[in-house]
Parts: sequence; structure tokens; C-alpha cells
Amino acid sequence: MTQRQTDSSNTSPADPDMSFGGLPLTPAALANLGQLGYLIMTPIQAASLPITLAGHDLIAQAKTGSGKTVVFALTLLSNLDVSDLSVQALVLCPTRELADQVTQEIRRLARSQDNVKVLSLVGGSPMRPQMNSLEHGAHIVVGTPGRIMDHLQRESLRLDALNTLVLDEADRMLDMGFFDDIVYVAKRCPKPRQTMLFSATYPEGIAQLSRQFLHKPQEVKLMERHEADKIRQRFYEVDNAERLDAVARLLNHYRPVSSLAFCNTRQQCRDLLEVLRGQGFLALALHGELEQRERDQVLIQFANRSCSVLVATDVAARGLDIAQLEAVINVDVTPDPEIYIHRIGRTGRADQDGWALSLASKNQMRRVDGIARETGTAVEWHAIDELEPANDEPLLPPMVTLQLLGGRKEKIRPGDVLGALTGEAGFTADQIGKINVTETTTYVAVAREIAQEALRRLAVGKVKGKTVKVRMLEIPGNALAERPSRANASIKRRPKP
Ligand code: ADP
Ligand code: MG
Repeated sequence: MTQRQTDSSNTSPADPDMSFGGLPLTPAALANLGQLGYLIMTPIQAASLPITLAGHDLIAQAKTGSGKTVVFALTLLSNLDVSDLSVQALVLCPTRELADQVTQEIRRLARSQDNVKVLSLVGGSPMRPQMNSLEHGAHIVVGTPGRIMDHLQRESLRLDALNTLVLDEADRMLDMGFFDDIVYVAKRCPKPRQTMLFSATYPEGIAQLSRQFLHKPQEVKLMERHEADKIRQRFYEVDNAERLDAVARLLNHYRPVSSLAFCNTRQQCRDLLEVLRGQGFLALALHGELEQRERDQVLIQFANRSCSVLVATDVAARGLDIAQLEAVINVDVTPDPEIYIHRIGRTGRADQDGWALSLASKNQMRRVDGIARETGTAVEWHAIDELEPANDEPLLPPMVTLQLLGGRKEKIRPGDVLGALTGEAGFTADQIGKINVTETTTYVAVAREIAQEALRRLAVGKVKGKTVKVRMLEIPGNALAERPSRANASIKRRPKP
């Protein structure tokens, strides 16, 4: 049996309320759960199933591996009328692999009912066999948004009898640029229905989807407030004069791929940015004066791992939700322990360890005591002189962002860009990172080693059958960015093929 991770819920696994027995499930369904070795509900299941089995819409936020599939699978199965062989439930997933996993899990949970047909419709497979399968009928369809949209457009998939819609890993679907496709699909589902949305994080797009497509949803959120064991907190005593340099020393020593550095003031943000860039770090700042478009661009570069350090004030970082963050650096101690807890909670997520590193001057010791009291942790002091650089290499982010002129308006989809790079250009999928498609622009992260070649290939090749303008997004103040920038200039001058 899979080992469960326990969320910080008040209910202990030994609690009898945690058995599936109390739920409105058929004896056959309960017996099947037992056979699968699912004896005790995970916290997200215990919190969500009473809501969803009563027919309510749900937004559930919980980390990966918490058992979300069982929540929507049991619910859509309980909404199912097996005698009617039309599509009654649709699950949208970000990737083919996840769609396959979900399909398997639904099939296993459906064993207690006779002849439940679950069909997976994902991109990258030929259309024809999928259309044939649809002609034979299915009760439950699991698929990726783009492919489901294709089937709806060709009318090979009909959703008139649908009663349950699930958006699984909604944040990842948004990351992959599926927003419009999801909207397209959701708009074609009958209004009276049950909708469930699952997400590990809660970026703005999720709220938008929820407003548009969920009906009075109940929210379940299981996030560890502290994962004390996963967030390693260290404090360093510094003089004010050496504070900003100390940030660079922390970076060279710990070498986090992505760090968020919190400043108490905007001026401190500006100063830190200058110091870091002066030392060759690829850093960007998030501050109130940025236009929305600039802010998006900064966040995209940070989230896709082409920027090492994001410098921000608490206000500017509000609502920011980034899954992979190796370190949070408190450039200054915040007077408010709640803010400290909030800041460091952004690292050490999703089964990864994270560093929470704080710089404190002598006159800030009272604040540090307050934090220790509030968080109930003993403060671990370290000397700044301990911070030897881990090696001589400059700390560079693993990816570089390429910007393509053209986005949703031009009907560009993430798959088109991925296809252009992995197809004729011959790169492998793991050399390509996040792809963000906005209204007029597409951003694609590519591995630093292939950045120039990828830029060149995209500039001379085609995306969606058209040539596109492409450039490398540079982060200023870094000596090593010079090479790419020259390559870029020469590409721009190259006459169009
Ligand atoms: P999530 O979607 O939240 O990332 P999954 O639904 O994929 O998580 O579940 C993670 C793993 O936990 C799966 O291997 C699943 O079989 C297992 N699992 C789910 N619920 C239970 C349970 N109640 N008892 C034991 N294992 C479970
Ligand atoms: Mg899942």
C-alpha cells in the first residue's frame, strides 16, 4: 500500500471518522475500497467527500499525493447512471500521463459497478481511434483540454448528458496555457451539473475559472501552515552595512535555483537588485510601479526558472504562488511574525526542502525573539563568515526565456511551440520548460545550454506554419547574458527566409 503523507489536519488516522464507512456509498463500493487497501481516508478525502457526495461544487487545494483522485472519482461514479451509455462525466487533466493515471484510478474504483466505460482522450494520439471509441459510447471521459476541444469541434464528443465536470491540477493546466481551452470546454457543458476543481496552488486564474464555472463552491484547503521539518530556518547576524552583500554570500553558499528575497522597503529592493546584478546574479524585482504586462513577464521568468532571484516587498509578492522555491531570504527582519510565517511558507513545498534564511542586525533581535515565540521554534544562529562559496561557478538559472511575438490571438498553443522545438529543430522535451501563452506573446523556457541554438531554430523555422519573431528575454547586469544578446541581435538582422 502506498504510504500516506499526513497533512496537518486535526484528525488523526486512528480516528474512526476517517473510515470511508460513514459516507453515503454503496456496500459494494465500500468493499471495493477495502480491497484496494483504502481503509482510512486521507485528510483531503475526509474534508471533501461529505461535500461532494452531497452534490455540492468544490474547490480543493491540497498538495500532490494527498489523494484527490479518489474524491472526484467516487463522486462522479456516484452521479453515474450506468444504464445510460452517454458521457456523464468529464475530467480535464494537464498531461497525457496524468490523464492515464486518472483513467486507471477511476477504472479501479469503478470495479464495484458493472460495465462502467472510462475513455481517455489525450493529445499526441491519433484522432481516428478515439473517434471510433466514442462511437461505441463511454460513461466517463478523461482528457487533456486541447484534445477534448478538438472532439467537441468535430462533434465526435457530445456533452448533453454530462452531470459532472472535474478540473484536475487546474494550476498546471493554466501554467501550460490551457485557460482558453478550458473555458471553451466548460461553456459547452450543461448548466445543471456538479463541478469540482483541484489545484495545488491558487493563482489568480483559478479564482477566475471558479467564478465563471462553479456554482456556490465549498472550499477545502489543506496546506501545512508550517512544515517545520521541511523548511530549514537559519538566522545570520549582520551589520546594516554588509546586509546586501550578505545576500550574495547566501546565494553563493546555498546555491538555490530559485529564491525569493524579501525587503521591507522599495528602496531596499532597488539597492539589492543593483548589488546582485553587479555581482552577476540574474535577479528581477517585483514592485508596485510595474505595469501588469511587466509584472507578468517578471513572474513568468521567475516561475519558469530563468531568473535566480526575485526581489520583492511583501505587498508586491501578494498572491504570488510559485511551486518550486528552494529558498526564501529575509533581507530584513519583518516586525510582524505573521508576515515572517507567510514569507517562509513559500518554500519547502511539494515534498521539497526549502531554506528560510534571515539576516538580522543587533537592533532587530527583539523582532527575532518575537518570531521564535510565535513560530515555536528555537532560533538557529549562524555566523556570516561561515558562508563560503560552494564553488567558483557563477550561480545561473537553468533556463532561458525566449519570447515569441504572437499568442492566443494568433491561435498559438503550447503544443505548437513544443512541436516546433522538438520536431524539426530536434530538441528533446526535457530541454523545454514551461510555455506561457498570453494574448499577444508566447514565452518558452529552454535549457540554458541550448538557448542560442533554440533561438536560431525558432527564428528560421515555423510555428503553426508561420515564421515568428523571436527574441531572448535578457535579465540585465549579468556578464554572461552578453553572448546570447549578440546572437539575438544578429538573428534580428537576418533577412526573412
Ligand atoms: P493527488 O491527486 O492528490 O496528487 P492521488 O489521488 O494521485 O493524489 O493519490 C496518491 C496516491 O495515494 C495514489 O497512489 C493512491 O492510490 C493513494 N491513495 C489515495 N487515497 C488513499 C487512501 N485513502 N488510502 C490509501 N492510499 C490512498
Ligand atoms: Mg492528482
